Amino acid sequence: MTISRREELAENLAAIREEITAACVAAQRSPSDVTLIAVTKTYPASDVDLLAELGVTDVGENRHPEAERTKADVTADVRWHFIGGLQTNKAAAIARYADVVHSVDRPKLVTALQKGALAAERHLDCLIQVDFDATDPGRAGVVPDGVLDLAENIAQAENLNLSGVMVVAPLGVDPEPVFARLATISEELKHEHPEATMISAGMSEDFALAIKYGATHVRIGRSILGNR
Ligand SMILES: *Cc1c(COP(=O)(O)O)cnc(C)c1O
Repeated sequence: MTISRREELAENLAAIREEITAACVAAQRSPSDVTLIAVTKTYPASDVDLLAELGVTDVGENRHPEAERTKADVTADVRWHFIGGLQTNKAAAIARYADVVHSVDRPKLVTALQKGALAAERHLDCLIQVDFDATDPGRAGVVPDGVLDLAENIAQAENLNLSGVMVVAPLGVDPEPVFARLATISEELKHEHPEATMISAGMSEDFALAIKYGATHVRIGRSILGNR
């Protein structure tokens, strides 16, 4: 017997919500402090609508223009998170439809996002993507020492809200020290910018650990939508 896509998503979502709650309990945190972002990249707009019916409020996409097309086809009212690496020449387009940009990692991008948000008469929540892997200069993210300067840049941009930090744990390494270091950086950032409370960390494989280290937003794709 085949089950419907809606049932499949409902089951996966229920399992993930249970795991999030368990991780929060273990970390002595309230489940209401952790927001699930369903990462719908490569999946159709109809899945976003089904997820919204099942109570999902936040959706993550990592590529333009696919993200824009998906959003145009979605009827549900959800919050759109842009979580992918971002080229400066696409920033203005993204500023027209994203609510939160997780991947801000250089001043030029701040300038481009500000310009785009101003033109679209919108405000964008911005997270600073941090990278701890100094051995691979090709990775997205600002080095830890650069976080406060970049934060200042964002804070001074009229249409951008400095909202917090984000990390993608490198493949094949223990994510625990990565999440621990991000928590420390988040504390330092909040000391200067108390409004920057978001910590976006954790994916299908490691979200429970990210929650242990204070993640406020977990970005989960495969465990909900399935493997492609
Ligand atoms: C794809 C993606 C995710 C979700 O990863 P899963 O392993 O499918 O849960 C989270 N964050 C970013 C930046 C991604 O690109």
